[in-house]
Amino acid sequence: MDGRNAVNLLDRHQGPDEPDTGTTSTTFAPRKAADIPDDMFINAVNQAIQTRRAKEGIAVTWATRWDVEAVLAGHPEQVGEVHDYPTMPSNLVLAKARKMILKGKLDGCYCGCRGDLRVP
Ligand SMILES: [Zn+2]
Repeated sequence: MDGRNAVNLLDRHQGPDEPDTGTTSTTFAPRKAADIPDDMFINAVNQAIQTRRAKEGIAVTWATRWDVEAVLAGHPEQVGEVHDYPTMPSNLVLAKARKMILKGKLDGCYCGCRGDLRVP
């Protein structure tokens, strides 16, 4: 096991159909992007990047949107994998990323691809 599933994380513009793992272990369950504070999102991106560096032993400078989902959902140990978190829906994290990118608080892509998210 190398901590990844079938998703090719090197192919930026091909996302998976999020598999449903039924994972849930957090009480933070935002209903809209605005429920996620900007600072929390930025911290999650930075934590996801640091976790990827530690797990993969390479100096990555960005996180995937799935990495950020894992951190926000309270599962930083699942950074580098792709899971569906009922309390942290993909489309909500993507909407938050879009707002942050348009505000210039985040670098990356919000088209629905891997994202390559990082704090500018
Ligand atoms: Zn994209």
